[in-house]
Amino acid sequence: MINVSIHTFNAFQQNTSVVSDESGNCVIIDPGCFSIYEENELTQFIESAGFKPKAILNTHAHIDHVLGNHFVSSKYDIPLYLHGDDLTTLRSVSNYAHLYGFEGYKISPEPTFILEDGQTLTFGNICFKVMHTPGHAPGHVVFIDSVNNFVINGDVLFRGSFGRTDLPGGDFETLKSTILNKMFSLPEDMTVYCGHGPSTTIGAEKVSNYILNF
Ligand SMILES: [Zn+2]
Ligand SMILES: [Zn+2]
Repeated sequence: MINVSIHTFNAFQQNTSVVSDESGNCVIIDPGCFSIYEENELTQFIESAGFKPKAILNTHAHIDHVLGNHFVSSKYDIPLYLHGDDLTTLRSVSNYAHLYGFEGYKISPEPTFILEDGQTLTFGNICFKVMHTPGHAPGHVVFIDSVNNFVINGDVLFRGSFGRTDLPGGDFETLKSTILNKMFSLPEDMTVYCGHGPSTTIGAEKVSNYILNF
């Protein structure tokens, strides 16, 4: 039994996911906690459930998805996973964090493991296939659990919409190709957990996503 718990953090209303198995192993995907209040919400959730954190996974390295990397990695002493094409983005966050009002941003550790397209990640009974999904960010990946039929999709698809492509490394045609050729090849009844806003399904987005207008 795999459980996904979503916590919405920071000024960007970013969705941090805690994915756990029946033995209490868990991974934290895109920890966006920044305030002490948000840090406490995350750790109290993990500790009251008796979870054992195993890893931090980043879908990509935009500031709203990595604000809590330092806190979570030092709190639980767990490794960070990120695709290599987002390393430059990760390293640049400290240069601009203050411009977004995140004074006191603590620099993320470097990834312990570099993610690659097609690789399988296993933490207890949590099992993800990694798919490289560039366009919103060059090193964006999604984490697919095909047994439990969900994908942690970061900022590729949103319900009815899609991630912006005007940030450094973003490219609209690449994102469009990612969505049409990669995301839309996933099962139609697969649940899509989004980096912002509500979840959706692949089938619903194949019918009505705004990308279909381009
Ligand atoms: Zn993003
Ligand atoms: Zn985001």
